Amino acid sequence: MNLVFLGPAGSGKGTQAKRLEADYRVVQISTGDLLREAVRQGTELGKKAEPLMREGRLVPDDLVIGLIEERLRAGDVGEGALFDGFPRTLPQAQALEEALARMGLQIDKVISLEVPEEILVDRVTGRWSCPTCGTVYHVRTRPPRVEGRCDRDGTELVQRSDDTPEKLEKRLEVFRTEIPKVKEHYRKLGKLVEIDGVGSPDEVYARIRAALES
Ligand code: AMP
Repeated sequence: MNLVFLGPAGSGKGTQAKRLEADYRVVQISTGDLLREAVRQGTELGKKAEPLMREGRLVPDDLVIGLIEERLRAGDVGEGALFDGFPRTLPQAQALEEALARMGLQIDKVISLEVPEEILVDRVTGRWSCPTCGTVYHVRTRPPRVEGRCDRDGTELVQRSDDTPEKLEKRLEVFRTEIPKVKEHYRKLGKLVEIDGVGSPDEVYARIRAALES
């Protein structure tokens, strides 16, 4: 099963993707994570992407598509993939279909997590994560046991440089412009499932599972 997860920053895509990865045989492929890793390693791609990411702007399609094609070649997605944060534009959606078709694969369902913007702002600006294991915390709704430290490995928690109110506004603006076109594309193909993303992670996950199993 190959799935696409659509949703703005703070919609819970990453959290839900990790659960699906554990319960279904799918490999989570997050372009945000791949790009952050390229930035960390200081690759050519990372150097081009870093200033755009810092401002909450989209990295150009050709770079992101190249990254996804390379990731698909790794050979571990035969059982299924879960695309998180990709595609974000119509050309990316088309490129994904072509890349999968070359492997004899296709997208089965596209899950769009719907969350009102005021909730996104609260979720994103209170978000801290562990740079070692990726666990995500929230100052109010999911605080770590020891302030500023990961429960799992004790690493000092960090806040993403694009999780400030100003950067988030830019990211939401980009999302509002591009994602309706991507959703429309998948709606026409009969693959789009819109899920209410408001509620606890367990509640949202139950809705996603019900949609996948229907
Ligand atoms: P995310 O972790 O998905 O919120 O992505 C963080 C940042 O990486 C975004 O604000 C963009 O700058 C960049 N990015 C991630 N995925 C894509 C994509 N599919 N297309 C273009 N830029 C992306």
